[in-house]
This record gives sequence, C-alpha cells and structure tokens, in this order.
Amino acid sequence: MSVHLTCKQAVDYISKKEEGKLSSWQRVKLWQHLAICSLCRTFSAQNKIITHSFKHHLNFKQESLTDVQKNEINSGY
Ligand SMILES: [Zn+2]
Repeated sequence: MSVHLTCKQAVDYISKKEEGKLSSWQRVKLWQHLAICSLCRTFSAQNKIITHSFKHHLNFKQESLTDVQKNEINSGY
C-alpha cells in the first residue's frame, strides 16, 4: 500500500469530508495529499463552494415553499 493518496482517492476523500464521513486517519492522509498536490487543493476549494451553494439552494427552495407563496401562486398573482 502506497504512503500517499492518489488524486482519485483524494477526490473521494474530499467529498466524504464534506459529508463528515472521514476518519481522523483519513483526514491526515488527505491533508498530506493536499500539501503536495495543487490540483486537488483547487478541487477541494471548489468542492466546498459547490457544496455550500448547493445547500444554500436547497434552503432557498424550502423557504420558498411557504403557504403564503403557494396562495399567491394559486390566486394567479
Ligand atoms: Zn492530487
């Protein structure tokens, strides 16, 4: 087994990290990879933005489904 993660593994770890599914050992391995790989650092940064805006979008959709707004739509406004 190699000491360092491959980029494929690192990407997998990054998405797991966003979901809070990474063990402390895996976090260390990911951190080691990000220290040597600028490509995955960029991906990690972008992944955070994507995850954040995605959650933001979901919240926005839930907030938009209020009864008041449904009534506005139904009243033909
Ligand atoms: Zn990498």
